[in-house]
Amino acid sequence: MYLPQEIIRKKRDGEVLSAEEINFFIQGVANNTVSEGQIAAFAMTIFFNEMTMPERIALTCAMRDSGMVIDWSHMNFGGPIVDKHSTGGVGDVTSLMLGPMVAACGGFVPMISGRGLGHTGGTLDKLEAIPGYNITPTNEVFGQVTKDAGVAIIGQTGDLAPADKRVYATRDITATVDNISLITASILSKKLAAGLESLVMDVKVGSGAFMPTYEASEELAKSIVAVANGAGTKTTAILTDMNQVLASSAGNAVEVREAVQFLTGEYRNPRLLEVTLASCAEMLVLAKLAQDTEEANAKLMEVLDNGKAAECFGKMVAGLGGPADFMENYDNYLEKADIIKPVYAEQEGVVSAMDTRAIGMAVVSMGGGRRVATDSIDYAVGFDQFIRLGETADANKPLAMIHARSEEQWQEAAKALKAAIVIGGEYTPTPNVYRQIRAEDV
Ligand code: URA
Repeated sequence: MYLPQEIIRKKRDGEVLSAEEINFFIQGVANNTVSEGQIAAFAMTIFFNEMTMPERIALTCAMRDSGMVIDWSHMNFGGPIVDKHSTGGVGDVTSLMLGPMVAACGGFVPMISGRGLGHTGGTLDKLEAIPGYNITPTNEVFGQVTKDAGVAIIGQTGDLAPADKRVYATRDITATVDNISLITASILSKKLAAGLESLVMDVKVGSGAFMPTYEASEELAKSIVAVANGAGTKTTAILTDMNQVLASSAGNAVEVREAVQFLTGEYRNPRLLEVTLASCAEMLVLAKLAQDTEEANAKLMEVLDNGKAAECFGKMVAGLGGPADFMENYDNYLEKADIIKPVYAEQEGVVSAMDTRAIGMAVVSMGGGRRVATDSIDYAVGFDQFIRLGETADANKPLAMIHARSEEQWQEAAKALKAAIVIGGEYTPTPNVYRQIRAEDV
Protein backbone atom coordinates (compact mmCIF):
# COMPACT_ATOMS: atom_id res chain seq x y z
CA MET A 1 0.00 0.00 0.00
CA TYR A 2 1.45 3.35 -1.04
CA LEU A 3 0.62 6.94 -0.17
CA PRO A 4 0.92 9.73 -2.78
CA GLN A 5 2.72 12.02 -0.30
CA GLU A 6 5.27 9.29 0.46
CA ILE A 7 5.96 8.83 -3.25
CA ILE A 8 6.44 12.60 -3.62
CA ARG A 9 8.75 12.65 -0.56
CA LYS A 10 10.87 9.82 -1.93
CA LYS A 11 11.35 11.60 -5.26
CA ARG A 12 11.91 14.93 -3.47
CA ASP A 13 14.79 13.31 -1.55
CA GLY A 14 16.46 12.19 -4.77
CA GLU A 15 15.53 8.51 -4.60
CA VAL A 16 14.46 6.44 -7.59
CA LEU A 17 10.78 5.42 -7.75
CA SER A 18 9.75 1.87 -8.58
CA ALA A 19 7.38 1.12 -11.48
CA GLU A 20 4.77 0.07 -8.87
CA GLU A 21 4.98 3.43 -7.09
CA ILE A 22 4.68 5.35 -10.37
CA ASN A 23 1.74 3.18 -11.43
CA PHE A 24 -0.01 3.75 -8.13
CA PHE A 25 0.42 7.53 -8.39
CA ILE A 26 -0.80 7.71 -12.02
CA GLN A 27 -3.80 5.48 -11.29
CA GLY A 28 -4.65 7.96 -8.54
CA VAL A 29 -4.37 10.79 -11.07
CA ALA A 30 -6.75 8.98 -13.43
CA ASN A 31 -9.34 8.16 -10.76
CA ASN A 32 -9.07 11.51 -8.94
CA THR A 33 -7.79 10.14 -5.62
CA VAL A 34 -4.59 12.15 -6.14
CA SER A 35 -5.21 15.89 -5.75
CA GLU A 36 -4.12 18.70 -8.06
CA GLY A 37 -1.70 19.87 -5.33
CA GLN A 38 -0.10 16.43 -5.23
CA ILE A 39 0.25 16.37 -9.03
CA ALA A 40 1.90 19.80 -8.87
CA ALA A 41 4.36 18.68 -6.19
CA PHE A 42 5.11 15.45 -8.07
CA ALA A 43 5.81 17.42 -11.28
CA MET A 44 8.02 19.89 -9.42
CA THR A 45 10.11 17.15 -7.79
CA ILE A 46 10.67 15.64 -11.23
CA PHE A 47 11.49 19.09 -12.59
CA PHE A 48 14.32 19.41 -10.07
CA ASN A 49 15.45 15.79 -9.85
CA GLU A 50 14.68 14.42 -13.35
CA MET A 51 13.83 10.74 -13.80
CA THR A 52 15.99 7.78 -14.74
CA MET A 53 15.14 6.05 -18.04
CA PRO A 54 13.37 3.16 -16.24
CA GLU A 55 11.29 5.73 -14.29
CA ARG A 56 10.40 7.54 -17.52
CA ILE A 57 9.37 4.25 -19.15
CA ALA A 58 7.19 3.40 -16.14
CA LEU A 59 5.59 6.88 -16.20
CA THR A 60 4.93 6.66 -19.95
CA CYS A 61 3.39 3.18 -19.70
CA ALA A 62 1.28 4.14 -16.68
CA MET A 63 -0.12 7.22 -18.46
CA ARG A 64 -0.61 5.27 -21.72
CA ASP A 65 -2.55 2.59 -19.82
CA SER A 66 -4.65 5.13 -17.85
CA GLY A 67 -7.26 5.00 -20.65
CA MET A 68 -8.05 3.10 -23.80
CA VAL A 69 -5.12 1.61 -25.75
CA ILE A 70 -6.28 0.98 -29.30
CA ASP A 71 -5.87 -2.57 -30.60
CA TRP A 72 -6.07 -2.65 -34.39
CA SER A 73 -5.64 -6.43 -34.78
CA HIS A 74 -9.34 -7.00 -35.68
CA MET A 75 -8.98 -4.62 -38.65
CA ASN A 76 -6.47 -6.87 -40.46
CA PHE A 77 -4.83 -3.89 -42.13
CA GLY A 78 -2.41 -6.14 -43.95
CA GLY A 79 0.59 -3.88 -43.40
CA PRO A 80 2.61 -2.20 -40.68
CA ILE A 81 0.98 0.43 -38.43
CA VAL A 82 3.24 3.47 -38.36
CA ASP A 83 3.08 7.09 -37.29
CA LYS A 84 5.09 10.27 -36.90
CA HIS A 85 4.96 13.01 -34.29
CA SER A 86 6.55 16.42 -34.43
CA THR A 87 7.34 18.79 -31.57
CA GLY A 88 5.69 21.44 -33.72
CA GLY A 89 6.66 24.44 -35.74
CA VAL A 90 5.56 27.16 -38.13
CA GLY A 91 4.56 26.11 -41.64
CA ASP A 92 5.08 22.50 -40.58
CA VAL A 93 2.46 20.92 -42.80
CA THR A 94 4.50 17.70 -43.10
CA SER A 95 1.83 15.33 -41.70
CA LEU A 96 -0.59 16.14 -44.52
CA MET A 97 1.83 14.81 -47.13
CA LEU A 98 3.67 12.24 -45.01
CA GLY A 99 0.56 10.20 -44.06
CA PRO A 100 -0.56 9.71 -47.69
CA MET A 101 3.01 9.12 -48.92
CA VAL A 102 3.65 6.35 -46.39
CA ALA A 103 0.17 4.92 -47.03
CA ALA A 104 0.88 4.77 -50.77
CA CYS A 105 4.04 2.78 -49.95
CA GLY A 106 2.09 0.13 -48.01
CA GLY A 107 2.02 1.54 -44.45
CA PHE A 108 -1.11 2.21 -42.36
CA VAL A 109 -1.12 5.55 -40.57
CA PRO A 110 -3.84 6.06 -37.91
CA MET A 111 -2.62 9.50 -36.86
CA ILE A 112 -3.99 11.23 -33.78
CA SER A 113 -3.00 14.89 -34.04
CA GLY A 114 -3.28 17.99 -31.96
CA ARG A 115 -4.38 21.58 -32.28
CA GLY A 116 -2.05 24.56 -32.46
CA LEU A 117 -0.10 25.20 -29.26
CA GLY A 118 1.37 28.67 -28.59
CA HIS A 119 3.10 29.86 -31.74
CA THR A 120 2.98 26.46 -33.47
CA GLY A 121 0.29 25.48 -35.93
CA GLY A 122 -1.87 22.40 -35.43
CA THR A 123 -2.57 19.68 -37.98
CA LEU A 124 -6.18 19.45 -36.83
CA ASP A 125 -6.79 23.17 -37.32
CA LYS A 126 -5.41 22.88 -40.85
CA LEU A 127 -7.63 19.90 -41.69
CA GLU A 128 -10.68 21.68 -40.35
CA ALA A 129 -10.12 24.29 -43.08
CA ILE A 130 -11.52 21.58 -45.39
CA PRO A 131 -15.34 21.87 -45.38
CA GLY A 132 -17.02 18.78 -43.94
CA TYR A 133 -13.79 17.12 -42.67
CA ASN A 134 -14.68 15.40 -39.40
CA ILE A 135 -11.81 15.26 -36.90
CA THR A 136 -13.84 13.30 -34.34
CA PRO A 137 -15.19 10.23 -36.15
CA THR A 138 -16.17 7.05 -34.31
CA ASN A 139 -13.42 4.48 -33.75
CA GLU A 140 -15.09 2.32 -36.44
CA VAL A 141 -14.85 5.10 -39.05
CA PHE A 142 -11.28 5.92 -37.93
CA GLY A 143 -10.26 2.30 -38.47
CA GLN A 144 -12.16 1.91 -41.75
CA VAL A 145 -10.70 5.08 -43.31
CA THR A 146 -7.22 3.99 -42.20
CA LYS A 147 -7.83 0.65 -43.90
CA ASP A 148 -9.32 2.08 -47.12
CA ALA A 149 -7.08 5.14 -47.60
CA GLY A 150 -4.04 3.89 -45.67
CA VAL A 151 -4.21 7.04 -43.56
CA ALA A 152 -6.67 8.85 -41.30
CA ILE A 153 -5.72 11.97 -39.38
CA ILE A 154 -8.09 12.78 -36.52
CA GLY A 155 -8.20 14.48 -33.10
CA GLN A 156 -7.47 13.02 -29.69
CA THR A 157 -10.44 11.38 -28.03
CA GLY A 158 -11.01 11.93 -24.30
CA ASP A 159 -10.40 8.28 -23.49
CA LEU A 160 -6.75 8.21 -24.71
CA ALA A 161 -4.21 8.79 -21.89
CA PRO A 162 -6.60 10.72 -19.59
CA ALA A 163 -3.94 10.86 -16.82
CA ASP A 164 -1.73 12.96 -19.10
CA LYS A 165 -4.59 15.38 -19.62
CA ARG A 166 -4.75 16.06 -15.85
CA VAL A 167 -0.99 16.10 -15.37
CA TYR A 168 -0.49 18.43 -18.35
CA ALA A 169 -3.18 20.86 -17.18
CA THR A 170 -1.44 21.10 -13.79
CA ARG A 171 2.04 21.45 -15.34
CA ASP A 172 0.73 24.24 -17.52
CA ILE A 173 -0.16 26.36 -14.48
CA THR A 174 2.80 25.40 -12.26
CA ALA A 175 5.81 26.16 -14.51
CA THR A 176 6.65 22.48 -14.99
CA VAL A 177 6.05 22.02 -18.72
CA ASP A 178 9.69 22.41 -19.78
CA ASN A 179 11.13 19.23 -18.33
CA ILE A 180 12.46 16.44 -20.54
CA SER A 181 11.21 13.51 -18.42
CA LEU A 182 7.70 14.94 -18.27
CA ILE A 183 7.58 15.97 -21.95
CA THR A 184 8.79 12.52 -23.01
CA ALA A 185 6.10 10.73 -21.02
CA SER A 186 3.39 13.19 -22.04
CA ILE A 187 4.02 12.97 -25.79
CA LEU A 188 4.62 9.23 -25.83
CA SER A 189 1.71 8.19 -23.60
CA LYS A 190 -0.73 9.70 -26.12
CA LYS A 191 1.07 8.37 -29.20
CA LEU A 192 1.59 4.86 -27.85
CA ALA A 193 -2.09 4.60 -26.86
CA ALA A 194 -2.88 4.68 -30.58
CA GLY A 195 -1.66 1.09 -31.00
CA LEU A 196 1.37 1.79 -33.22
CA GLU A 197 4.03 -0.72 -34.21
CA SER A 198 6.59 1.99 -34.96
CA LEU A 199 6.99 5.74 -34.58
CA VAL A 200 9.20 8.47 -35.97
CA MET A 201 9.67 11.55 -33.86
CA ASP A 202 10.58 14.84 -35.58
CA VAL A 203 12.22 17.09 -32.99
CA LYS A 204 12.61 20.67 -34.17
CA VAL A 205 15.69 22.81 -33.66
CA GLY A 206 15.96 26.59 -33.95
CA SER A 207 14.15 29.90 -33.48
CA GLY A 208 10.67 28.41 -33.90
CA ALA A 209 11.31 25.21 -31.95
CA PHE A 210 9.70 24.23 -28.66
CA MET A 211 13.09 23.38 -27.10
CA PRO A 212 15.40 26.37 -26.60
CA THR A 213 18.74 24.99 -27.89
CA TYR A 214 20.13 22.31 -30.22
CA GLU A 215 21.45 20.42 -27.19
CA ALA A 216 18.04 20.44 -25.49
CA SER A 217 16.33 19.22 -28.70
CA GLU A 218 18.90 16.43 -29.00
CA GLU A 219 18.43 15.45 -25.36
CA LEU A 220 14.65 15.29 -25.83
CA ALA A 221 15.04 13.20 -29.01
CA LYS A 222 17.35 10.74 -27.22
CA SER A 223 14.98 10.50 -24.27
CA ILE A 224 12.01 9.80 -26.57
CA VAL A 225 13.88 7.13 -28.54
CA ALA A 226 15.11 5.38 -25.37
CA VAL A 227 11.72 5.49 -23.63
CA ALA A 228 9.54 4.53 -26.62
CA ASN A 229 11.76 1.56 -27.47
CA GLY A 230 11.83 0.65 -23.78
CA ALA A 231 8.01 0.73 -23.80
CA GLY A 232 7.97 -1.68 -26.76
CA THR A 233 7.38 0.60 -29.77
CA LYS A 234 10.17 0.76 -32.37
CA THR A 235 11.05 4.44 -32.57
CA THR A 236 13.65 6.67 -34.17
CA ALA A 237 13.95 10.45 -34.10
CA ILE A 238 15.21 13.05 -36.51
CA LEU A 239 16.35 16.55 -35.66
CA THR A 240 15.13 19.05 -38.24
CA ASP A 241 15.47 22.77 -38.70
CA MET A 242 12.95 25.35 -37.53
CA ASN A 243 15.08 28.47 -37.98
CA GLN A 244 12.63 29.54 -40.68
CA VAL A 245 9.08 28.79 -41.78
CA LEU A 246 9.23 25.21 -43.07
CA ALA A 247 6.75 25.40 -45.94
CA SER A 248 6.22 28.41 -48.21
CA SER A 249 3.08 29.20 -46.25
CA ALA A 250 1.95 29.56 -42.64
CA GLY A 251 -1.71 29.50 -41.66
CA ASN A 252 -4.48 26.96 -42.18
CA ALA A 253 -6.16 27.05 -45.62
CA VAL A 254 -2.90 28.35 -47.14
CA GLU A 255 -1.00 25.34 -45.79
CA VAL A 256 -3.64 22.85 -46.94
CA ARG A 257 -3.44 24.45 -50.42
CA GLU A 258 0.34 23.97 -50.36
CA ALA A 259 -0.02 20.34 -49.20
CA VAL A 260 -2.36 19.55 -52.10
CA GLN A 261 -0.04 21.27 -54.59
CA PHE A 262 2.88 19.30 -53.12
CA LEU A 263 1.04 15.99 -53.53
CA THR A 264 -0.13 16.70 -57.06
CA GLY A 265 3.30 17.99 -58.09
CA GLU A 266 2.04 21.48 -58.88
CA TYR A 267 4.57 23.02 -56.47
CA ARG A 268 7.09 21.46 -54.04
CA ASN A 269 9.15 23.67 -51.76
CA PRO A 270 12.54 21.84 -51.74
CA ARG A 271 13.09 22.36 -48.00
CA LEU A 272 9.68 20.93 -47.18
CA LEU A 273 10.36 18.02 -49.55
CA GLU A 274 13.69 17.21 -47.86
CA VAL A 275 12.24 17.27 -44.34
CA THR A 276 9.13 15.29 -45.35
CA LEU A 277 11.21 12.66 -47.15
CA ALA A 278 13.51 12.35 -44.13
CA SER A 279 10.60 11.47 -41.80
CA CYS A 280 8.88 9.24 -44.36
CA ALA A 281 12.09 7.33 -45.13
CA GLU A 282 12.67 6.61 -41.43
CA MET A 283 9.09 5.33 -41.21
CA LEU A 284 9.51 3.00 -44.21
CA VAL A 285 12.82 1.62 -42.93
CA LEU A 286 11.50 1.11 -39.37
CA ALA A 287 8.40 -0.64 -40.72
CA LYS A 288 10.55 -2.75 -43.08
CA LEU A 289 8.77 -1.34 -46.12
CA ALA A 290 12.22 -0.38 -47.45
CA GLN A 291 15.67 -1.78 -46.77
CA ASP A 292 17.45 1.53 -46.45
CA THR A 293 16.99 5.28 -46.85
CA GLU A 294 17.93 5.20 -50.52
CA GLU A 295 15.31 2.61 -51.40
CA ALA A 296 12.76 4.43 -49.24
CA ASN A 297 13.39 7.75 -51.00
CA ALA A 298 12.99 6.12 -54.43
CA LYS A 299 9.67 4.55 -53.40
CA LEU A 300 8.43 7.81 -51.90
CA MET A 301 9.29 9.86 -54.98
CA GLU A 302 7.53 7.28 -57.12
CA VAL A 303 4.23 7.54 -55.21
CA LEU A 304 4.48 11.31 -55.26
CA ASP A 305 5.10 11.43 -58.99
CA ASN A 306 2.59 8.76 -60.05
CA GLY A 307 -0.26 10.38 -58.08
CA LYS A 308 -0.77 7.50 -55.61
CA ALA A 309 -0.01 9.64 -52.56
CA ALA A 310 -2.41 12.33 -53.79
CA GLU A 311 -5.04 9.64 -54.27
CA CYS A 312 -4.63 8.47 -50.63
CA PHE A 313 -5.08 12.04 -49.37
CA GLY A 314 -8.25 12.46 -51.50
CA LYS A 315 -9.65 9.17 -50.15
CA MET A 316 -8.93 10.20 -46.56
CA VAL A 317 -10.68 13.56 -47.03
CA ALA A 318 -13.74 11.96 -48.64
CA GLY A 319 -13.82 9.13 -46.07
CA LEU A 320 -13.87 11.64 -43.21
CA GLY A 321 -16.72 13.71 -44.66
CA GLY A 322 -14.89 16.19 -46.90
CA PRO A 323 -15.62 16.81 -50.60
CA ALA A 324 -15.14 13.82 -52.94
CA ASP A 325 -13.53 16.09 -55.57
CA PHE A 326 -11.25 17.96 -53.15
CA MET A 327 -7.99 17.17 -54.96
CA GLU A 328 -9.33 18.47 -58.27
CA ASN A 329 -11.23 21.48 -56.94
CA TYR A 330 -9.46 22.39 -53.67
CA ASP A 331 -9.39 26.06 -54.57
CA ASN A 332 -13.19 26.18 -54.69
CA TYR A 333 -13.39 24.73 -51.20
CA LEU A 334 -10.64 26.49 -49.24
CA GLU A 335 -11.62 29.85 -47.83
CA LYS A 336 -9.73 32.90 -49.11
CA ALA A 337 -8.99 36.12 -47.21
CA ASP A 338 -10.33 39.46 -48.46
CA ILE A 339 -6.92 41.11 -48.85
CA ILE A 340 -4.03 39.16 -50.39
CA LYS A 341 -1.03 41.32 -51.18
CA PRO A 342 2.76 41.27 -50.83
CA VAL A 343 4.83 42.89 -48.08
CA TYR A 344 8.30 44.16 -49.03
CA ALA A 345 11.35 44.67 -46.83
CA GLU A 346 12.23 48.28 -45.97
CA GLN A 347 15.72 47.76 -47.37
CA GLU A 348 17.17 45.48 -50.01
CA GLY A 349 19.43 42.63 -48.83
CA VAL A 350 19.97 38.99 -47.98
CA VAL A 351 17.67 37.39 -45.40
CA SER A 352 20.07 36.30 -42.66
CA ALA A 353 17.72 35.23 -39.84
CA MET A 354 14.08 34.79 -38.91
CA ASP A 355 12.37 34.92 -35.55
CA THR A 356 10.17 31.98 -36.49
CA ARG A 357 8.36 32.02 -33.15
CA ALA A 358 7.32 35.66 -33.78
CA ILE A 359 6.07 34.72 -37.26
CA GLY A 360 3.95 31.97 -35.70
CA MET A 361 2.59 34.49 -33.21
CA ALA A 362 1.75 36.85 -36.10
CA VAL A 363 -0.46 34.10 -37.56
CA VAL A 364 -2.11 33.68 -34.13
CA SER A 365 -2.66 37.48 -33.90
CA MET A 366 -4.46 37.44 -37.25
CA GLY A 367 -6.85 34.80 -35.89
CA GLY A 368 -5.14 31.82 -37.54
CA GLY A 369 -4.39 30.29 -34.12
CA ARG A 370 -5.79 30.41 -30.60
CA ARG A 371 -4.72 32.45 -27.58
CA VAL A 372 -7.08 30.50 -25.34
CA ALA A 373 -8.60 27.09 -26.01
CA THR A 374 -12.09 28.52 -26.62
CA ASP A 375 -10.99 30.92 -29.43
CA SER A 376 -12.36 30.16 -32.88
CA ILE A 377 -10.03 30.04 -35.88
CA ASP A 378 -10.04 32.13 -39.05
CA TYR A 379 -8.90 29.50 -41.58
CA ALA A 380 -8.28 31.97 -44.42
CA VAL A 381 -5.61 34.21 -42.89
CA GLY A 382 -1.83 33.71 -42.92
CA PHE A 383 1.14 34.00 -45.22
CA ASP A 384 2.31 32.32 -48.39
CA GLN A 385 5.15 32.67 -50.91
CA PHE A 386 7.44 33.09 -47.90
CA ILE A 387 11.00 34.23 -48.60
CA ARG A 388 13.75 31.81 -47.43
CA LEU A 389 16.96 32.36 -45.51
CA GLY A 390 19.77 33.28 -47.90
CA GLU A 391 17.44 34.79 -50.52
CA THR A 392 17.60 38.47 -51.41
CA ALA A 393 14.62 40.64 -50.54
CA ASP A 394 14.17 43.51 -52.98
CA ALA A 395 11.54 45.36 -55.00
CA ASN A 396 10.83 42.18 -56.99
CA LYS A 397 11.00 39.72 -54.12
CA PRO A 398 8.58 40.31 -51.24
CA LEU A 399 9.01 38.86 -47.77
CA ALA A 400 5.67 37.09 -48.21
CA MET A 401 2.09 37.49 -49.39
CA ILE A 402 -0.14 38.40 -46.47
CA HIS A 403 -3.68 36.97 -46.45
CA ALA A 404 -5.66 39.30 -44.18
CA ARG A 405 -9.28 40.04 -43.30
CA SER A 406 -8.85 43.82 -43.26
CA GLU A 407 -6.38 46.55 -44.20
CA GLU A 408 -5.68 47.17 -40.51
CA GLN A 409 -4.90 43.49 -39.94
CA TRP A 410 -2.69 43.48 -43.06
CA GLN A 411 -0.72 46.47 -41.68
CA GLU A 412 -0.20 44.80 -38.30
CA ALA A 413 0.94 41.55 -39.90
CA ALA A 414 3.32 43.47 -42.20
CA LYS A 415 4.85 45.22 -39.19
CA ALA A 416 5.29 41.92 -37.35
CA LEU A 417 6.88 40.27 -40.36
CA LYS A 418 9.34 43.09 -41.01
CA ALA A 419 10.38 42.97 -37.36
CA ALA A 420 10.81 39.18 -37.43
CA ILE A 421 12.94 38.94 -40.59
CA VAL A 422 16.54 40.15 -40.41
CA ILE A 423 17.91 41.63 -43.64
CA GLY A 424 21.68 41.95 -44.03
CA GLY A 425 24.36 40.76 -41.61
CA GLU A 426 26.03 37.38 -41.52
CA TYR A 427 24.05 34.46 -42.96
CA THR A 428 25.24 31.02 -41.88
CA PRO A 429 23.25 28.25 -43.58
CA THR A 430 21.90 25.51 -41.29
CA PRO A 431 21.05 21.97 -42.46
CA ASN A 432 17.40 21.10 -43.06
CA VAL A 433 17.94 17.73 -41.38
CA TYR A 434 20.63 17.64 -38.66
CA ARG A 435 20.75 13.97 -37.76
CA GLN A 436 18.91 10.73 -37.08
CA ILE A 437 18.79 9.22 -33.59
CA ARG A 438 18.12 5.48 -33.63
CA ALA A 439 17.69 2.95 -30.83
CA GLU A 440 21.37 1.97 -31.09
CA ASP A 441 22.42 5.61 -30.52
CA VAL A 442 20.90 5.93 -27.05
N1 URA B 1 3.33 18.40 -25.98
C1 URA B 1 2.78 17.47 -25.18
O1 URA B 1 1.87 16.77 -25.57
N2 URA B 1 3.24 17.34 -23.92
C2 URA B 1 4.24 18.08 -23.42
O2 URA B 1 4.62 17.90 -22.28
C3 URA B 1 4.82 19.06 -24.26
C4 URA B 1 4.35 19.19 -25.53
